[in-house]
Amino acid sequence: MSKIYNVGVIGGGVSGVVIALELAKYGIENILFEKKESVVNSSPFCHLHAGGNLYPDISTEQCKVLMKQSIDMARLFPQSIDQRPTFISIPKTETYKIKDLQDRLVVLVDYYKTLIKEDPKNEILGAPEEYYNTYNKEDLEHLAKQEAVKTPKTANQWMTNALKLVDYKQLKTPVILVQEYGWNLFRLGAQAQLALTKTPQCNLQLNTNVSKIEDVRHLNLDYNWKIHTKNNIYNIKYLVNSCGFKTGKIDEALNLNVKRLIEFKAAYVSKWQPIDGPIPELIFHGKRGTPNGMVQLTPYCNDYYQIHGMTKDITLFDNGLIQSKNNQAQPKFNEAINDRIESGWKKNDIEERTQNAINLVTKFVPTFKSATLGSAPLYGAQQIPGDDPILRVGEVSFPSKFYARSEIIKASSALTVANQIITKIQEEHIIPKIKTVLTKNDILNSIPKESINTLSSELAIQRQYPEALAKLVIDRD
Ligand SMILES: Cc1cc2nc3c(=O)[nH]c(=O)nc-3n(C[C@H](O)[C@H](O)[C@H](O)COP(=O)(O)OP(=O)(O)OC[C@H]3O[C@@H](n4cnc5c(N)ncnc54)[C@H](O)[C@@H]3O)c2cc1C
Repeated sequence: MSKIYNVGVIGGGVSGVVIALELAKYGIENILFEKKESVVNSSPFCHLHAGGNLYPDISTEQCKVLMKQSIDMARLFPQSIDQRPTFISIPKTETYKIKDLQDRLVVLVDYYKTLIKEDPKNEILGAPEEYYNTYNKEDLEHLAKQEAVKTPKTANQWMTNALKLVDYKQLKTPVILVQEYGWNLFRLGAQAQLALTKTPQCNLQLNTNVSKIEDVRHLNLDYNWKIHTKNNIYNIKYLVNSCGFKTGKIDEALNLNVKRLIEFKAAYVSKWQPIDGPIPELIFHGKRGTPNGMVQLTPYCNDYYQIHGMTKDITLFDNGLIQSKNNQAQPKFNEAINDRIESGWKKNDIEERTQNAINLVTKFVPTFKSATLGSAPLYGAQQIPGDDPILRVGEVSFPSKFYARSEIIKASSALTVANQIITKIQEEHIIPKIKTVLTKNDILNSIPKESINTLSSELAIQRQYPEALAKLVIDRD
């Protein structure tokens, strides 16, 4: 008789790998199917949204959830976290108010203190009193005159380095520096893949597309689903759909109709001149989808910088945000977007959009004019459950017995989803009640930093990105 797995997870993005690793941590046998050659190889991420400060339009409640979930993920994958702060500003041309951002930050500091009180190990964003700093006109003028700092340690030193480059006279004051860090997807993917390969509790199937799912729940067998791949059929008790923006395809196969949005987006990789010291991530807020959409400049190693520009000719695309239609759980992108996802980008498309991105940054960082194309963009699509396009926290839903659908919007929600699924499979008697909750994942913790360094570099190269994108600006022990 063929083996029966407790859980079958379809999709090895950040959500699927965290679910598989958390199941394995409790000794729960599972099988993870990923159609690509490595895990965490679909929708990209670069920013740990530990407070939602990149989103002036979302509720304070969502900002708190993003902070908590980001802390949880940073504790799980510390080697993927780049501990440099984020510079948050509003250009004078924009209607957003600094006061609104500040009011939210006050609430976030209190909330961060509560999280630390619950568990002192949650203090991964520095001291709560230092979570953010504000800089008025006089502070900016003073710091702009200071020497750049090779290895910045304090908020003022990071701000000094930023002010060597940013034309701050265009910005409303105060300007904010917040402890939202960088998040390296290659390093997270490498650690997860090494851990999944190592643990006997997970059968990791790479290069394996799930082509069909057979619902055998009504047959009263020892399992509920048959998962078909090209060469095999696997019997499993509990099905987890973590297919990212393609979760709708599995829903359709199960005759489930669900409302969801999917959005295709891209971030561009540029190479710039060497500068005197590292800079924070730079954010210039602006109304999404307008020519003044938010600009985000993310520093990487070796003078590489990634750019998001929330305009239609940079990060966003015509018909890039689409909704499921009647009787169709899976929204379908048009041909132009599908081609980019399935076959890669045309050279002139990459050059044109990267140049648009460089031009947008140049508005606020004049010397960025000299930046050039660094590599192909990082791109992908994310799902948004329901029909609210500004929702930034999505978790999990349980549409029917023995079936969970991960609906994360931001990578930070992955551990929350894994925990909710582990609770559910106990309620549905797939596994006996877990007696001791484990706060650490020893499988992940057993992977040495050197192995993460090696595999993350290999993954970046294999995916045709510069190796530097797999390194942290601020190296960690
Ligand atoms: C441009 C961009 C920038 C972003 N930046 C950030 C950021 O800075 N911070 C942040 O937190 N979030 C960010 N996000 C969101 C983040 O990328 C997503 O939240 C996250 O990657 C979703 O993970 P997932 O595992 O649900 O889905 P995915 O990453 O999409 O993974 C799904 C996986 O399922 C596999 N799959 C699908 N169908 C099958 C099948 N039939 N058989 C086998 N495998 C299958 C796919 O190959 C894929 O690997 C960004 C998104 C985009 C598009």
